[in-house]
Amino acid sequence: MYALVLLMYETKNLDKVFTYKIPSFLHGKIKIGTKVIIPFNNKYINGIVLEIKKECNETFDIKEIKEIINDDISFDEEMINLAYRLKELTLCSLSTAFKTMVPNRLKVSNNKKSLAKYDYIINLNDKNVVKEFIKNNKRSKKQNELLELLLQDKDILAKDYPSYIIKALQEKDLISLTPVAKYRLDAISNTNNDIKLSSDQQKVVFDISKVLNEYKIHLIHGVTASGKTEVYFSLIEKVLKKGKTALVLVPEITLSTQLIKRFYNRFGNIVGIYHSSLADGEKYDEYLKAYRGDVKIVVGTRSSVFTPLKNLGIIIVDEEHSDNFKQDTNPRYNAIDIAKYRAKYHRIPLVLGSATPLLESMAKSLKGIYTLHNMPNRIGNSILPEIKIVDMGLEVKKHNPIISSELLKAITNSLANNTQCILLLNRRGYSPFITCHNCGYTYKCKYCDITLTYHKSTNSLRCHYCGYTVLKDEKCPECKEKSLSYLGIGTEKLEEELLKKLPSARIIRMDADTTSKKGAHEKIINDFKDHKYDILIGTQMISKGLDFPLVTTVGVLNADASLNIPDFRSSERTFSLLSQVAGRAGRSEKKGLVVIQTFNPDNYLFENISNHDYEGFYNNEIKIRKDLKYPPYYFITSLKIISKDYEKASKMALKTKKYLDSNLSDKFIILGPTTANVFKINNIYRFQIIIKHQKNYNLLEVLNDLDNIIKLEKNVYLEIDINPLKV
Ligand code: ADP
Ligand code: ZN
Repeated sequence: MYALVLLMYETKNLDKVFTYKIPSFLHGKIKIGTKVIIPFNNKYINGIVLEIKKECNETFDIKEIKEIINDDISFDEEMINLAYRLKELTLCSLSTAFKTMVPNRLKVSNNKKSLAKYDYIINLNDKNVVKEFIKNNKRSKKQNELLELLLQDKDILAKDYPSYIIKALQEKDLISLTPVAKYRLDAISNTNNDIKLSSDQQKVVFDISKVLNEYKIHLIHGVTASGKTEVYFSLIEKVLKKGKTALVLVPEITLSTQLIKRFYNRFGNIVGIYHSSLADGEKYDEYLKAYRGDVKIVVGTRSSVFTPLKNLGIIIVDEEHSDNFKQDTNPRYNAIDIAKYRAKYHRIPLVLGSATPLLESMAKSLKGIYTLHNMPNRIGNSILPEIKIVDMGLEVKKHNPIISSELLKAITNSLANNTQCILLLNRRGYSPFITCHNCGYTYKCKYCDITLTYHKSTNSLRCHYCGYTVLKDEKCPECKEKSLSYLGIGTEKLEEELLKKLPSARIIRMDADTTSKKGAHEKIINDFKDHKYDILIGTQMISKGLDFPLVTTVGVLNADASLNIPDFRSSERTFSLLSQVAGRAGRSEKKGLVVIQTFNPDNYLFENISNHDYEGFYNNEIKIRKDLKYPPYYFITSLKIISKDYEKASKMALKTKKYLDSNLSDKFIILGPTTANVFKINNIYRFQIIIKHQKNYNLLEVLNDLDNIIKLEKNVYLEIDINPLKV
């Protein structure tokens, strides 16, 4: 017997598949998907069996598989197919695909030990023998005590007794031990459900539960606080009743701590969680729980789309418009594409939910490719907040360059009424630029193509790309005058300004700087929820998912920041961000007010935002996409040519363009090469080529060939991003 084995080779990103002989002692034990250790180039490395054959025509010397890696997990058919699919979608190597699908601890190249932890439960071998033993055993009281308890059929773990007692009883053949899985994370188990679904909710649940046995993609377009999460819960309940499992993808787990709690409250300890900030051991265990069927629901971020839940019954993607579902390092996969594949494989529903669906998703729904479900109303008596747009051009003239009079009034009112405020400013630090108003000098990163952000708390300037940090000088480093001035505002400065104007307000700031410690994020959220603070200032991380009933006022300090990013999706992203953050206001009976500050009040999206008009925005934006040949009318693929060596990058970019021109037909639009949005990061230069197309034709083959050609070059890399969310 022979096996085709994929080598999990760490250094090269090329697939290596070789034939090995299966030694007789392993016959019958090796299946497709089994992980094995094989000799290769005078050492032993890991591999995965992809095929088993009786015969082998190869004439050269074939080596034998050394042993099976017995590390708790082997790949089943679905997982193997998934790896091939991942390769196809992203053009990564098959070994990279397998590595992407499993937690870190399963990737390590020469690890063959089981990392699972166990407790051991004590069983009596023969009750009568034990009774007899107790009668005669006068020497050890402790042994007798334990045996008496066991005779009462109590569940007792070996770790609760000294090991010498356990050993002695084992040696006398009175007891034996059975392993029970022990996990590093333990879910809380209390379940309750006293919610009665609204009629909107009932309708969606009814419509989707009718087709639980079909592969269909459902889009739930539900405004903020329309009760989408409750809909997910009901659907999951139905799936569990059928004996199946559920996978729930969320954009970010830290943001979703509230959501996780709701899952635990509703379903108890059959919920597993899976996200990148778990420790490696925890991650491994959560993966194992899913694999062994010890949890029935997995809630997690992007990579949890690969969790090996058996017998899947539904996949749910909350906030489906989020960028986080796309991985921005190799392999550049979109978890929703993987979810589609798994849903199709199991013939089950994929449910996408959002208050502001991705334009492509809405387009597919309108075409009937996805099934659309609408939830246009908020739960209970709560209504959508009033939204005011403030022209900051006018405010600057009135000497309110940071906080407009409208916003200040709203905050003051809110404080007077003992309600809470959330303020969004998508820029951490104190100020994004420091320039010299004498000579024009600006602090810039040595290694990247951006200005340094000033952080007052440490009196330093930091690069938000690479972390490069310098202390701020008293005088301009260039002209030596005391003429440095701060331009623009960040969250730190906003906090300072607010305290000047409202000295008694209790303010807390949430951004990457205040949440770097483990648990800091949750503490801020809990403290704010308990009304220990009146005002929460934060970056984008406060915009989503949070549910604070006392919040009536939301302010957006600089709505233009995300609008000015050169990306065809920047309007869409801004609309979605503003709708999300506005959705934090007035979620209970108290009426909400949202104040949005902008220097471009005439941009159509602000009218759409203030009317809560997703449809209007969709219709405006889709026309632009059509005119400019962007998704959903055209697919795009982005190529980046990357090198430390400027000349090399630029030459290779031109060569790449030539290659594409001669290998792709004129049905493809090929733009560039241009310098990428951020041209230099960490001293590495990046050129970009964009390909637009309506059908794939031979694109994947051409890209694959191109990739293999460039892999042979030294010091220059090709980054292929198929259907990027950010360009
Ligand atoms: P969404 O996910 O659409 O923003 P949520 O599911 O978070 O909305 O619901 C918003 C709030 O309304 C939550 O506090 C939730 O517990 C509550 N809620 C949802 N459905 C109901 C219902 N049928 N009856 C009462 N409260 C509900
Ligand atoms: Zn830098």
